[in-house]
Amino acid sequence: MTNKKRRKKRLRLKSSFKRFCVYFLFFLIVGIYAIQESFEIHKLYEYRKTNEYKILALDYTQEETDLFLQKLDEKQIAIILENEYNEDYYHILKEPYYLAKNFEKYIEYKKEFREISYKDCIAIVNTHVNEGWYNVSFETDTSKGNIMLVNKFYHLNEEYERADLENVSLQYAYEDNKAASEVIEAFERMRNDVREKLNVSLMINSSYRSYKVQEETYISFRKNDNIVARPGYSEHQTGLTLDLTSIEHPMADDFTESEEYKWLIENCHYYGFILRYPENKKYITGYDTESWHFRYVGIEHASKMYQEDLTLEEYYAYYIEK
Ligand SMILES: [Zn+2]
Repeated sequence: MTNKKRRKKRLRLKSSFKRFCVYFLFFLIVGIYAIQESFEIHKLYEYRKTNEYKILALDYTQEETDLFLQKLDEKQIAIILENEYNEDYYHILKEPYYLAKNFEKYIEYKKEFREISYKDCIAIVNTHVNEGWYNVSFETDTSKGNIMLVNKFYHLNEEYERADLENVSLQYAYEDNKAASEVIEAFERMRNDVREKLNVSLMINSSYRSYKVQEETYISFRKNDNIVARPGYSEHQTGLTLDLTSIEHPMADDFTESEEYKWLIENCHYYGFILRYPENKKYITGYDTESWHFRYVGIEHASKMYQEDLTLEEYYAYYIEK
């Protein structure tokens, strides 16, 4: 081979190597791009399977969607996905006393009673009112002590009686009254302060009532559920309840108008008491306002209920029973 021929061959090799490199680079770039693309497509495909995508597809906002994903379990999300857009879900989840276990019940109740506010819907379902007074019944959890709940859904059994019931001094109680010793002490402190500040004397009209006595009362009132609690369903059986009045205003109507009553509703929580059946709360408590009926729950619970404007029913459902 001459020198010339060898050089020619070398040149040919060189240029075909160059061409190979260009092709290689080209396919490499195209290849990487294609892989990337397919990744994206796959990702999108996967995203479409998520709850987030499906909820957004029903016209919920990102904020609503995020709240659903944060607060609801798979079963509850399935309900959202099975239905058309419904603003109730979001509003219900935003309510401060929302309980996850009641989600389906809130939806159902709100659907039936459109005019009711979300706040009331939550309160009604939390306290079983949606199920109808006396329609369902649970035994009171007496291990909860001072915060135990007795109402038209929660009852005490015939035998229940607190061990620390004490006779109330006739100095400030009519007839023979009994109450838990802690309640009597708290009442004495409150009574002293009322006397000091307003120069009136609080009196206890009625306090502990046994199952038997309640039964007799219930029958004597012709079993009228609006006036008297059924035996076992009266809070007076707890030994934590006091019906109050004052020497100066012994009649219920006068007492309601009195300075001492006004003072009590603003201050009784400092002694651990609550006004048990306040105005405008009958739809929760099941009782008309009773300006005389005070219940001992302890200072901590009473103060929180006062600050948050909650009945015992609402407070118990949200903070105690859960
Ligand atoms: Zn009472």
